[in-house]
Amino acid sequence: MTTGLTLALSKGRIYKDTLPLLEKIGIEPAEDPEASRKLIIPTNRSDLNLMVIRATDVPTFVEYGAADLGVAGKDVLLEAESDNLYEPLDLNIARCRLMVAVPKGRLLPQTRPRIATKYVNLTRRYFAGKGQQVEVIKLYGSMELAPLAGLADGIVDLVDTGNTLRANGLEATEDIVTISSRLVVNKAAMKMKSSFIKQLINELSEVI
Ligand code: AMP
Repeated sequence: MTTGLTLALSKGRIYKDTLPLLEKIGIEPAEDPEASRKLIIPTNRSDLNLMVIRATDVPTFVEYGAADLGVAGKDVLLEAESDNLYEPLDLNIARCRLMVAVPKGRLLPQTRPRIATKYVNLTRRYFAGKGQQVEVIKLYGSMELAPLAGLADGIVDLVDTGNTLRANGLEATEDIVTISSRLVVNKAAMKMKSSFIKQLINELSEVI
């Protein structure tokens, strides 16, 4: 365990959007994690390392203190249902909406529609909140395929431009929640390394 800080990020959209924010506060990774096989990447600051992990693992690493901080989508945080994290900052990046979508021109059946999604908990909570019973089918990707292949009546997925839905003959029918990436902090680290973490939060909040 180092005395410095470890910041957990995921590859792809979150990494691409977080990097310019880090650069603005003078933090640069020593190598490109998208190109490197290393999972811990040092930065130009000897007291800060980056950890590159799967998006859905970020809340777990931070909750258990394996990383002091992390950047995670609100979708991942809502799905993880972890209330053991601080969420001090909305980074306002990787913005999109979590939506219900169905084949164009159709409606969800009234009785127990089948919904394919990777957001099983979120989807159950959303429909339960409306008093509607649904059958949730867990998928790990390509949700848009499920209604086309007859696996589900609709899907719950992230929508940005809407191009993916349109390309697959789907349309969004319900807007569940607006999503953006958040800075999350381990509760013990917030106490033990408070000055370092608060400084980082202040610096980041100035460049968002
Ligand atoms: P789009 O075609 O622009 O509406 O993007 C939709 C596709 O990109 C879907 O497969 C989504 O799961 C994915 N997507 C959109 N926004 C995000 C985001 N902020 N983070 C991760 N995946 C996203």
